[in-house]
Amino acid sequence: MGAADWSPAVIPLAVKAGVNYWHKAHRWNAETMPEAIKSQPRESYHLEVVVDRVGGDHMHGHIDEEQHYQFVKKAVERSGVGYYDVFKFHFGYHSVAEAKTDMGVIRAFERLKKEGLVKHLALSQHHYNNIGGDMAYDIVTYLIQNSPFEAAQFFYTYGDKHELEDVLALAKKNDFGTIAMKTMGGVGRAATDKKFQTMLAEPRFKGSSPGTAMVKWLMANPNLTAAVINTTNFDQLQENVGAARELKMGANDHHALGLLAAYNKGLTCLLCADCVSHCPEHIAIADILRYERYALDYHDLSRAKAEYQTLTKNGTACIACGDCMPSCQADINIIAKLKDVHRLLG
Ligand code: SF4
Ligand code: SF4
Repeated sequence: MGAADWSPAVIPLAVKAGVNYWHKAHRWNAETMPEAIKSQPRESYHLEVVVDRVGGDHMHGHIDEEQHYQFVKKAVERSGVGYYDVFKFHFGYHSVAEAKTDMGVIRAFERLKKEGLVKHLALSQHHYNNIGGDMAYDIVTYLIQNSPFEAAQFFYTYGDKHELEDVLALAKKNDFGTIAMKTMGGVGRAATDKKFQTMLAEPRFKGSSPGTAMVKWLMANPNLTAAVINTTNFDQLQENVGAARELKMGANDHHALGLLAAYNKGLTCLLCADCVSHCPEHIAIADILRYERYALDYHDLSRAKAEYQTLTKNGTACIACGDCMPSCQADINIIAKLKDVHRLLG
């Protein structure tokens, strides 16, 4: 799976390496759509249009059938691609109750499908316990069994909670697609950490790395359909594609993931959002620490800063009450971490 915000230099090489699904493809118009993609037969690649809430960000905006419909219709016209393979509702529902009662996204999709402008309905689903909503796995569990959605993308990584494993198993049973995102927590910072790299040079890790081991681990899960792997250059892409083809995990890969998990303890947020419902100040702790990951793991400081600026409440709103800390399975000192992140991104 590739994305429209990948470097233009990487895209032709990615196509050659077999990447044929493009996230956020609506960002390309007829002129900017890469030649390497549009020169292929249309049915050989898959394009995704990503639909956001309107009238605010993903926490405050609302669903609007007509505006979603018009957004996709205009994107199809601009792009000249004829249709999008996947209509993806970005960030997803706030709660199971909203998914049960607000049919705007589904109705917009059905109108567009009737006109031949989209084919499949999917969503990316975040946790909304910070605004009194539900966790992603509860919402996706409902959608698998009660909606026309055909696939969902959500946070999932090595050592994640059993609720995610349950969702993956249910999805598989119901022929519902699952896509893991934000899979590489800590991998980027470990790659530039000398102490970590010295440990990784020990013989038991030979031939593996946390990044390639993570790709193999994800791809070896029979219940998971796909994974979004962040790629900033072609070497990284080749390494990931190579690992995905190889599939079988060796003892060295298990050791490398164990080393990464130990490294991440107290350092890297797993984005589980367990802490946020305990915060009396309603600070979006998991979002703030996700932006930290953009900076330290993706090495994309400008994106991290830009996202941090959009917060209505940032790390400085923390009153150091400590109420969130006992819930963190990753043993993160959240009070200190929020200060660090503010120094980095504020
Ligand atoms: S320590 Fe800060 S982030 Fe944690 S619950 Fe208290 S105010 Fe919220
Ligand atoms: S800080 Fe801890 S509890 Fe909060 S989202 Fe991250 S890993 Fe989960």
